[in-house]
Amino acid sequence: MKVDLAANAREAVAIAKRISIDLYSDTNTRPTPGMRKAIANAECGNEQALEDPTTNALQERVADMLGKEAAVFLPSGSMCNEIAYRVWGRQGDEIIMDKTGHALLFETGGPAALSGLMIKQLDSPNGIFSPEQFESATHSFGRHAPRPRIVNIENTTNLGGGCVWPLDKIQAISEMAHAADIKVHMDGARLLNAVVASGIPTRDFTKHVDSVWIDFSKGLGCPIGGVLAGPADFIDEAFRTKHQFGGALRQSGIVTSACLYALDHHVERLADDHANAARLHAGLANISGINLQNDICETNLVFYDVTVSNLSAPALAVLLLERGIRIGALSETRMRAVTHLDVSKADIDTTLQAINEIVSAA
Ligand SMILES: *Cc1c(COP(=O)(O)O)cnc(C)c1O
Repeated sequence: MKVDLAANAREAVAIAKRISIDLYSDTNTRPTPGMRKAIANAECGNEQALEDPTTNALQERVADMLGKEAAVFLPSGSMCNEIAYRVWGRQGDEIIMDKTGHALLFETGGPAALSGLMIKQLDSPNGIFSPEQFESATHSFGRHAPRPRIVNIENTTNLGGGCVWPLDKIQAISEMAHAADIKVHMDGARLLNAVVASGIPTRDFTKHVDSVWIDFSKGLGCPIGGVLAGPADFIDEAFRTKHQFGGALRQSGIVTSACLYALDHHVERLADDHANAARLHAGLANISGINLQNDICETNLVFYDVTVSNLSAPALAVLLLERGIRIGALSETRMRAVTHLDVSKADIDTTLQAINEIVSAA
């Protein structure tokens, strides 16, 4: 098959230029002037030789925030997951996770390709499984069965609806896991959304888990990066794996300066994203022809189905795009809208009006 990458890229840029309200993803933020200033002034060195002071400072700060011994800066959240799985697992082992897990659906088969790991899927409401479900997934079938080695907790849940994991479930599952020699890994791409939305201290979410990471390129508004934290020997091994995966960096202070800036300026403001998402959620509830996936909106993700017979979700996405509004269609009926740093309250009202007009006219 012939692939014209240059044409694809030209088209993508042309579409992006026409978008004035981008609810497609919280990765679609641009560095603010303050962040750019922090980047311009970053002190840099060779990260791989541990000589980048800015990256070292970020790693220490995130390790402390998450209550872990050490941390490593990585180019992406996906790499945080994949490296944790590689370090904790062995070929043929199983990762237990919800059926909507990011690492299952959106990391191009990474656990299998990079680490030889299987995934046992749990079918749970909102992506949050119960200790009982976890327990039944760990029942041993004897010497011929794959060995459950890792349990993956996605907090907040992405496709589950941006839901916050209850502390008692994290604790109960972690205790059962540790008794069965299973490591607990928290995919904390949006952990700080959970912290801000619930008012629960970060370390309360992380104290029972073995490894955890946060993403800087989502709601925190940075161009690049995630930080993975855990015990010192785990992080030492993660550094080796990072190098093996081709992720060792040089003057990474250029990007980690943005991460430090975000920790100072972009955490509390996540509450604005949650308020905007709640406004969108409430507005959509009043539009007939729209069915919300979740009864309540806890953080910055809003999932809904289009239930008008002659309007599919992809068709609605195209009509919105014509008005400069981008929302992703996940299937024939389902859409996901995401609020972030570059989305205002007025943008939400414009979006609601557009959806209302399009759906009523369909
Ligand atoms: C985005 C996301 C990731 C991957 O992070 P990237 O930085 O995009 O690689 C992993 N898990 C969840 C839940 C996510 O939403």
